[in-house]
Amino acid sequence: MQDKSYSPGVLKYVEEAKKLIAEREAHLAQVKRWKFDTIAVHGLYSVEEALNRNQGAVIEPLYLSSSQAYRDTDELEAALAYLIPTWCYTRIANPTTYYLEWALALLESYKAGHDASCLVTASGMSAIAQAVDPFLVKQKDGPERINFVASVRLYGGAFQHFNVRKAQERGIEVRWVLHPEDMNEWKTKIDENTRFLYMEAPSNPQQSFCDVKALADLAHSWEIPLIFDSTCATPALMRPIAFGTDVVIHSLTKSITAGGMAIGGALISRKPIVTKVKNDHPLFKESFAEYVKLLPYRDNGPAAAPLNAMFALNDLRTLRSRMDLVSQNCQKVAEFLRAHPKVYQVDYLGLPSDKLHPLAKKYMKLVDSDDGKGNEVNRYGHLMSFRVDGPPENARKVLDGFKMIFRATDLGRIKSVATIPAISTHQQQGEEARRMADIPPQLIRLCVGAEDPDDVIADLDQALNSL
Ligand SMILES: *Cc1c(COP(=O)(O)O)cnc(C)c1O
Repeated sequence: MQDKSYSPGVLKYVEEAKKLIAEREAHLAQVKRWKFDTIAVHGLYSVEEALNRNQGAVIEPLYLSSSQAYRDTDELEAALAYLIPTWCYTRIANPTTYYLEWALALLESYKAGHDASCLVTASGMSAIAQAVDPFLVKQKDGPERINFVASVRLYGGAFQHFNVRKAQERGIEVRWVLHPEDMNEWKTKIDENTRFLYMEAPSNPQQSFCDVKALADLAHSWEIPLIFDSTCATPALMRPIAFGTDVVIHSLTKSITAGGMAIGGALISRKPIVTKVKNDHPLFKESFAEYVKLLPYRDNGPAAAPLNAMFALNDLRTLRSRMDLVSQNCQKVAEFLRAHPKVYQVDYLGLPSDKLHPLAKKYMKLVDSDDGKGNEVNRYGHLMSFRVDGPPENARKVLDGFKMIFRATDLGRIKSVATIPAISTHQQQGEEARRMADIPPQLIRLCVGAEDPDDVIADLDQALNSL
């Protein structure tokens, strides 16, 4: 934004930067023609970029510098006014994080009919906070009390963030939707003071789902955005932007960084988003993720660590084939558990008996796959949950009986991990909120990894049979 006049020295740098910008745009146009896997492997890091600027390094370099040096005061001024491409300071941007942001933006908007921009943050939770806060600001002549409408079937941390940080501490009304597949429930909860709709699907741990397109259309009919936590699906299985979603959230900590060595989050926004919140900055509507990055994120400080970005970038390269493999493994395990006499309920969207299966089938498809008849094959991810017969102690006994499967409040791993949400991820929200969200103490959450599924099944079987 050039809202004042600059000296000839500053403008010289603006002129010089045009060449780099043109080079990057030409390359971006090429990358957009690639298939999903190619984008995941290379992102924007080209042979030219390696040879001309990074000593030929085949892998994106890890920049562990907190800040960038400038040639003189003119370049410094141009950079800090965001007039030239710059990364400046790692709280705002970093060259390694830049490659991850672009790869995610391109994958999430792949064949979605819209461009997207991305902001990578320190964690999934900070991505959620950064995504919702700009819509909750006080407006001139606005109402005393504003609200947002959210599915109650959320990751425990997101529930706490909304219920405690937003509702209890800031007096913002959260209107919970108990059955997000029921469009009527959403409709009855929205009014003119609603700032956005918030959905997570498939939800962790209940495997809740909704009609994504209908929900985005409903949000837009009120001129508000749909914010969608798509952590469990990843862009390999669903790209909510293709169905009208405005802002997509990922905990990069999960399936995207399946190796399990880093925490991270991402906020990806469609260009443009729908909102009636007034904000003078042109990027607010046009490129929301960039707006957040350049302003509130800069001022709030939940910066991603470049090393963590590197881990995410590296695991991201094989996202599609990995999600295919672990989804198939999970399907096999879910079918085994469904037939097990000690298990009274299995929630996995891939099971044809699941009441939300037909809805999920419409949306969850392995990108760039082919069933031989020109359609993409359905894949439902690797998170599932099952409920063990008898008192809650039985679920604890089964969890304690695992010999290979790790007991951890973790998911999305290349290794199988399991937990009981009622005593871990969803402990803090209390019994009543757990009842609303359908998380009984008999429920074990299982995320199936890339082991041979027969070995996962054998471990589950011996643990269940010890009851
Ligand atoms: C884990 C998780 C989060 C939070 O992410 P962190 O990286 O742990 O902060 C948000 N949403 C979902 C669905 C998650 O599973």
